[in-house]
Amino acid sequence: MTSRQWAATTLVVLVLAAAVVALLRVPLTAPPAPRADQLDALATLPADAVAKGREFRGALRPSMYLSMALGLVVALLLGLTPAGAWIVEQAGRPFNGHWLGRALLGGLAVVFVGEVVALPIAAWRQSILRRYGLSTQDWGAWTVDVLKGYAVGAVIGAIVLVGFFTVTHFAPRWWWAWGAAGAAALTVLLTFVFPVLVEPIFNKFTPMPEGEQRTRLMAMAERDGVPVRDVLIADASRRTRAVNAYVSGFGPTRRIVVYDTLLKEAPPAEVESVVAHELGHAKDNDVFTGTLLGALGAAAAVCALYLLGSWAGLLRLARVDSIAEPRAVALLLAVAAVAGLFAGPLQSFVSRRVEARADQHALELTGDPAGFEAMQSRLSQVNLGDPDPNPVEQFLFGSHPTTVERMAAARAYARGAR
Ligand SMILES: [Zn+2]
Repeated sequence: MTSRQWAATTLVVLVLAAAVVALLRVPLTAPPAPRADQLDALATLPADAVAKGREFRGALRPSMYLSMALGLVVALLLGLTPAGAWIVEQAGRPFNGHWLGRALLGGLAVVFVGEVVALPIAAWRQSILRRYGLSTQDWGAWTVDVLKGYAVGAVIGAIVLVGFFTVTHFAPRWWWAWGAAGAAALTVLLTFVFPVLVEPIFNKFTPMPEGEQRTRLMAMAERDGVPVRDVLIADASRRTRAVNAYVSGFGPTRRIVVYDTLLKEAPPAEVESVVAHELGHAKDNDVFTGTLLGALGAAAAVCALYLLGSWAGLLRLARVDSIAEPRAVALLLAVAAVAGLFAGPLQSFVSRRVEARADQHALELTGDPAGFEAMQSRLSQVNLGDPDPNPVEQFLFGSHPTTVERMAAARAYARGAR
């Protein structure tokens, strides 16, 4: 078999493997959340809070779509015209056009163009968050966060660019195999490294102090049979008023993180409900599933890129000889941007199913559907959410079931458990 045939075979195997993992580890159906219960739940929410949430989401909407559209247009303009290759050549000049210089500086320069175009929209978004009081950051602190984000992106980008183009340089026919393995390995590595190295750049984490709440939460984890090293509090209040909690890492880096805003806003029963939801993620190893799917997807993407590389029309548009040369980095990003458009809704779908399962876990573990509902209501109000958003947008972007779906699921659960 030729390298191309191997790549095609590997791509098929990886896609099938991802489908099998998804089938085995992601629930296909959502628990019942009858529409009648959803409407009843909606009616219990304060009308002014619902209106304010809708107004806020409506205010954010144009910036969201503009950012998506502009990101795509810039990626296509740079990738499907000679502009991208030109930027790479210019950026590589200090190294006399050496391939490594082009790979690193050229790649970062192309990414940077996209960042610069996105910056005004990010600032627009931040101004809306401030206007509605959701952001507690002044412009100075916001700018520091943006710069930190650039720095983290540059470090990860440099590793990816140098790694990828070194492989394509030294293995011109079989780079896809090395690249696929490297992409999968990097995905796994980032899952371990992110909570330990990157998250502390943006937030301070302190163990939840000894006391009744911590004891109750750790006892709940114990009862649940989920080994949790620690419950950490993130100082999110210096950035936002929004409340949240999440579980990150797996194995030795797994921890449950609770925003300090949540502890300030919510009574203990509701905090327990949130932590019980996070324990559900830990128990079902959702971070592991996500990482596995991400690794398979990243490897498949590299194989697909290699196969796309024989599409002469595409190479001609970008005026490059090969998709594997550093001058083609903008073309690679353009392909990735288009692929992302299709991957996004799929990711959202998987995420919603996994989140609904964690909700069910919270209901079972706490046996407190009322506390769960109260928490959902609070989450939506404090975060200025639309509790019952447009179904199309929910399908495209919703990472969680809607607030009324989650409340309805609690009601359905309460009826079943009674
Ligand atoms: Zn969750």
